[in-house]
Amino acid sequence: MDATSSGRPLQVAVFCGSRPGRDPVHAALAKELGQAIGGRGWRLVYGGGHVGLMGIVAQAVLDGGGQVHGIITQHLVGREVAMPGLQKLDVVDTMFERKRLLIDGSDAYIVLPGGFGTVDELLDVLTLKQLDEHRKPIVLLDSTGRFWAPWLALARHLVDEGFAGPSALALAAEAADVEAALRLAEAAPGTAELA
Ligand code: AMP
Repeated sequence: MDATSSGRPLQVAVFCGSRPGRDPVHAALAKELGQAIGGRGWRLVYGGGHVGLMGIVAQAVLDGGGQVHGIITQHLVGREVAMPGLQKLDVVDTMFERKRLLIDGSDAYIVLPGGFGTVDELLDVLTLKQLDEHRKPIVLLDSTGRFWAPWLALARHLVDEGFAGPSALALAAEAADVEAALRLAEAAPGTAELA
């Protein structure tokens, strides 16, 4: 089992859509990611829902005998429906609290395709890293090569226009397959604040 320097399993946050998306390739990638996280004995930290890519990743980790820590708001327990069978489910009051626990409680962030919520979570970990508030790996995982392309174009545009330094482009890494994403995710383990 891969582990952090403290001996506990790596805790990987996965940010992804609460919908499956139009292209089934994203759901297949989410399942493969969950299986790989479970297979390595790592712990998934995620938004706690059973819907969309979120539910697919979590179910795949559970099916592989892995550990899943969900963090959801009371409000979303009704709307997203919390995933059954998780080893740990925190129900918090606000989205801010949820994001803070997701961010602080993880050693690395893997971002699958998703919608506004996923992009919001990506921007949070990027901007905190830009301000040196953490140094954890951020990995954009996309097997199509086209899902994150508009985001990467926007990031380059912000640099070209002088609103971000060139080093901003190195805040997140890109991965086209699960193995590459996991290698990047374990690059700097052991920094999560929560057990
Ligand atoms: P989405 O990518 O929009 O499907 O959302 C993915 C996850 O982000 C879900 O767990 C949503 O509950 C969550 N989410 C949606 N909107 C926000 C937001 N404004 N801030 C933080 N999380 C959000």
